[in-house]
Amino acid sequence: MQTAFVTGITGQDGGYLAERLVGEGWQVHGLVHSPDHARAELMERTPEVVLHEGDLGDASRLSAVLDEVRPSEIYNLGGISSVALSWQAPVLTAAVNGLGAAGLLEAAWSLQERHGAQVRVAHASSAEIFGAPAVSPQDENTPIRPHTPYGASKAFAHHLVDVYRRRGLFATACILYNHESPRRPETFVTRKITLAAARIAHGAQQTLALGNLDARRDWGWAPDYVDGLIRAIRHDEAQDYVLATGISHSVRDFVEAAFTHAGIADWTQWVEVEAALTRLGDAVEQRGDATRAGAMLGWTPSASFEDVVHRMVDADLARV
Ligand code: GDP
Repeated sequence: MQTAFVTGITGQDGGYLAERLVGEGWQVHGLVHSPDHARAELMERTPEVVLHEGDLGDASRLSAVLDEVRPSEIYNLGGISSVALSWQAPVLTAAVNGLGAAGLLEAAWSLQERHGAQVRVAHASSAEIFGAPAVSPQDENTPIRPHTPYGASKAFAHHLVDVYRRRGLFATACILYNHESPRRPETFVTRKITLAAARIAHGAQQTLALGNLDARRDWGWAPDYVDGLIRAIRHDEAQDYVLATGISHSVRDFVEAAFTHAGIADWTQWVEVEAALTRLGDAVEQRGDATRAGAMLGWTPSASFEDVVHRMVDADLARV
């Protein structure tokens, strides 16, 4: 049986990845740091998964777990995922996202050296490494110039994947643009909006406070990005890939589509713009060019912007 190890397994992408790998007959191990709701949900959906207590920032623990599990595929999805929070916790963000990736790459490389069996790593990189890009769409050659502590931590990890690749590790970094699903936490604007639309439609909420409505993001369907990571780690050659739909929409577009789908005629009556929610260093537009992933991995996004919005609103209407 083939064995995979996943950091961030209790997150949105970790859950979809665990389902895919378990479905393919893999033994899946994951790193978790505290018992919580997300962990219970993961174990309900995929009881086959084996969890190991540990923190991504604890390199020696990570190395010990990898020695025990001896995976052939490692997916690094863990870390601090909130760009906004990274301004409040820059040191923690650097430690977990930056040093955590360093510890994982080193542990993977050392495991491969000691046992002589190939270990492959797929790292979830982020469009935030490009900061406020001067060109749109961005691709694998766009200059890396982050504007936030989150982006800087992901940029360090991104560069390190290349360093270890040159050292002889099969390591791929997938530059993931925003990818959403009904499993997104409310800290992300999409889920905040779809949950509010469902609650407002049911008379359970009066207002929705948002930050910058003009920010444009390239929103895709999360399981597609997990599929991209799997294709990248199993390709003949270790490369970096942008995974994106190539189409951007504004936060305003997202609100309008979600409220309309929830049956609310005039969204403007319910939405308030709150200055405190506007972010420092927020890119005007992030839009990715996934030509390389298309050509080399045969990857294409399966869902449109409307599909993503409708699926999320439908799930929240059912929940509320
Ligand atoms: P991110 O791109 O990974 O940080 O994903 P988010 O969903 O958190 O943010 C996407 C965009 O929505 C960013 O440009 C935010 O500035 C913008 N945005 C506007 N209002 C809000 C809000 O109330 N919450 C969040 N999370 N983002 C907001």
